[in-house]
Amino acid sequence: MECPACGGEGCEECDHTGSWSVKGCPREFVQPIVMAANLSTHASKGMLPVQGGTLDQSAWFMDFWQRLESDTAKIDRDRIERERARR
Ligand SMILES: [Zn+2]
Repeated sequence: MECPACGGEGCEECDHTGSWSVKGCPREFVQPIVMAANLSTHASKGMLPVQGGTLDQSAWFMDFWQRLESDTAKIDRDRIERERARR
């Protein structure tokens, strides 16, 4: 499949090949990531997955959430830069 990070242009995520190969069932690979991404969407709206504050959340979730926010911001920045370069 085409690398979602660079759209086939080649980047660090895809070892500069522009594509990813999927081994095994893609659904099993994607399901926990989708669940964590959904939890992150709720967390960004102030609804944390576990009762309590951020210190009550699991470390993996806080790490995932932070990375997702940071990656989303990077993708948005890259998209804006690509749009600018096209003009
Ligand atoms: Zn790539």
